[in-house]
Amino acid sequence: MKPLMDRFGRPVRSVRISVTNRCNYRCFFCHREGYDIEGSEMTPQEIERIMRILVRNGVTRAKITGGEPLLRSDIIEIVRGMKRAGIREVSMTTNAWRLGELAEKLSDAGLDRVNISLHSLDSKTYKFITGVNGLERALKGLDEAIRMGLKPKINMVVLRGVNDGEVWRMIEFSVKRGVNLQLIELLDTDIDLFKKYHFSLSGVEKKLRDMAIKFDQNVLHGRPRYYLSKNTYVELVRSFRNPLFCMGCDRIRITHDGKFKTCIMRNDNLIDFLEKMRAGVGDEELEKLFRSAVSLREPYYKLGKNPT
Ligand code: SAM
Repeated sequence: MKPLMDRFGRPVRSVRISVTNRCNYRCFFCHREGYDIEGSEMTPQEIERIMRILVRNGVTRAKITGGEPLLRSDIIEIVRGMKRAGIREVSMTTNAWRLGELAEKLSDAGLDRVNISLHSLDSKTYKFITGVNGLERALKGLDEAIRMGLKPKINMVVLRGVNDGEVWRMIEFSVKRGVNLQLIELLDTDIDLFKKYHFSLSGVEKKLRDMAIKFDQNVLHGRPRYYLSKNTYVELVRSFRNPLFCMGCDRIRITHDGKFKTCIMRNDNLIDFLEKMRAGVGDEELEKLFRSAVSLREPYYKLGKNPT
């Protein structure tokens, strides 16, 4: 199935779906996926139904996010339903607090991959960032994810003056463990936080370029990947004022309360489908809503013309 294209020629091949906005962590920089509103969570059946519509329109990959997705007691059912709907690659981003106990069940349900947020290997810094004494549990979750074949990738948001001194330690750790690492620059969702904590990864990128034995790019956002061993890479997520990043965006977002969201940075063109689904509309109507959302997509940063 060919993907839908937006007005800027960008295909929509993936979805980032929040299944809850509840979280047991309090990361001080959290963007809350650009949508901080209490709402009624979708049921696994509603998620499966909307996934079928997306699959029919060319979406092949889905990333489950939150809040913390593993807080949902029916998360296994959600994953199973998404696979049943025909999503080829279902992945999840988690703080791994509950991953140790759930990795096997998630893998059995069809979860293909997992991203683990691990912003520090120092327990004090970890607690400072997340508000929780959770380093040990997160590391156990990582071990279990490796054991269950969930191909974990570590997500580290690099924060000036907080964990920027740990970048190379984290790189060494991930290479040793044979897991991929994603170094993420702080997003500019909150301008005061951004000014205080944004750490540019350009110096790190320069070093990685010199060290890498191979280079490629993620289809999503064209994110660069520097391989430090045959199978392990460091991927850089640098979105700030980056039109190429936006041009490589192939994802639509879904909020936990059933709205299409065209961009993490925007809430002025959300399209609700859950209320309509609950009111009994048919699949053709839901498909139309999805198509409308795709037609509203717009790169946040464009060449030559940027939000200030
Ligand atoms: N609770 C889950 C977790 O910890 O992975 C999923 C939700 S969390 C919002 C998803 C990812 O976004 C995490 O890797 C998190 O570190 C990252 N993130 C949160 N706030 C961010 C920000 N302001 N800039 C860049 N990345 C951020």
